[in-house]
Amino acid sequence: TVSYEQLPYSAAAQAFLARQPRLFINNEWVESSEGATIAVEDPSSGKIVTRVVDASNRDVDRAVAAARAAFDDGRWSNLPPMVRERTMNRLADLIEAHADEFAELEAIDNGKPKGMAGAVDIPGAISQIRFMAGWASKVGGDTNAPYTMPAGLVFSYTTKEPVGVCAQIVPWNFPLLMACLKIAPALAAGCTLVLKPAEQTSLTALRLADMVAEAGFPAGVVNIITGNGHTAGDRMVRHPDVDKVAFTGSTEIGKLINKNATDSMKRVTLELGGKSPVVVMPDVDVATAAPGAAGAIFFNSGQVCVAGSRLFAHKSIFDQVIEGVAEASAFWAPRPSLDPAGHSGPLVSKEQFDRVMGYIEAGKRDGASVAIGGDAPTADGYYVNPTVLVNVNPQMSVVREEIFGPVVVAQRFEDLDEVAKMANDTCFGLGAGIWTKDVSAMHRLASRIKSGTVWGNCHAMIDTALPFGGYKESGIGREQGRAGIEAYLETKTVIIQL
Ligand code: NAD
Repeated sequence: TVSYEQLPYSAAAQAFLARQPRLFINNEWVESSEGATIAVEDPSSGKIVTRVVDASNRDVDRAVAAARAAFDDGRWSNLPPMVRERTMNRLADLIEAHADEFAELEAIDNGKPKGMAGAVDIPGAISQIRFMAGWASKVGGDTNAPYTMPAGLVFSYTTKEPVGVCAQIVPWNFPLLMACLKIAPALAAGCTLVLKPAEQTSLTALRLADMVAEAGFPAGVVNIITGNGHTAGDRMVRHPDVDKVAFTGSTEIGKLINKNATDSMKRVTLELGGKSPVVVMPDVDVATAAPGAAGAIFFNSGQVCVAGSRLFAHKSIFDQVIEGVAEASAFWAPRPSLDPAGHSGPLVSKEQFDRVMGYIEAGKRDGASVAIGGDAPTADGYYVNPTVLVNVNPQMSVVREEIFGPVVVAQRFEDLDEVAKMANDTCFGLGAGIWTKDVSAMHRLASRIKSGTVWGNCHAMIDTALPFGGYKESGIGREQGRAGIEAYLETKTVIIQL
């Protein structure tokens, strides 16, 4: 029988977990005004391993005031871009020097395998900072010739200015990666910020805070606070001294934030949920496409905003594809996060476990059949076995709603027109995967699927240079690439009559 016992933590991790709960404001570790805390659980064992501050309104106000003062006196935005770039790169170097420790903390906190965190999350976080650091010296305006005025009447140009104080709120699925994806473009643009990690996964953001002063950021530029969403997060979103809100999380909370932030015309970017289709055309090599479709949903236990949670396989190969996904699912069987042999971990929390199991039960009640999994191993942690549901219809909640777990619904299709319609029959539009050797089918389908990213013969490949974001209810705006930094800049037009 398989053991689900978590392995012992390293001395470095134990020392970090033994620290007093604190907030990082103005380059200092400070006590919370009220002393409320949140328990931090290891989802591989269900054990509480430490506590973090549950920031009060006064704590949030203090962090925002620090960011406001740091922005208003230009201590960051007025530095030479070369200095901002070098400071950011020093932060990236410090993360890299502690990569193994970050990977372990992520594994303890989120439940993902340490090996996956070390291969995906931590290098991804570092590359976000290094790529955006380069933009600090590359953004600028244009000189524009007016359309209605004679030449020489005016001299006009545009400049780019940082938006100001940013409130950045991130989810629990890729904690450090999401934190760095948020802070990097803000810092490159010359903004100051308050970052709040998800209440389930605060550890790596706090470890990151240790490195902010060491990297050389002036006080108040990067403030990192922990706390609950409906209290601390809400205060950040509504705060009158915040100029921009950047959020990644559920569509439900994203809609709420969009309303609360835009009351005062704050700039808002939202990266929200998905129900991404994976289309397997009849010409594929099933031995390649089926493991690809399995990885698209089972990576990170399905807790991925672009998870390929709706599988569409051509009717001529449907059974073979399901068989191939079943075989590949053994690779993704969940293990405790510090087990070096594991490729998947438990879900992040008991709440998420109950939610995912609830969807599986609802699917069964609605008449879906379980082709693979559908159950959870007996363990103290929050493990769910890779699950494939078949005989589903478009009305079922398992087909319509984001489950955010290792659960895929599989459907048959006959031709390209039909699968394009099926793929678009959703309120989401974040990602889509297409598996085919037929170049024409690939491009035709890529242009018809309404989503921010389309992958061909792969899934969830994400790169800091390539814009990422959602159509429809999957979000507003784009992160990464040039679009990523533009989202932290205002354009100023200057027109001078000569
Ligand atoms: P969530 O929306 O519940 O929480 C995300 C963050 O928002 C947390 O930090 C939380 O504290 C905060 N929050 C909650 N309520 C708030 C409020 N009223 N005001 C301000 N902040 C508030 O989402 P989650 O459960 O942490 O994450 C899972 C969801 O995130 C999934 O739906 C997933 O699709 C989505 N997600 C999207 C992307 C993307 O890039 N599009 C990436 C990762 C996750």
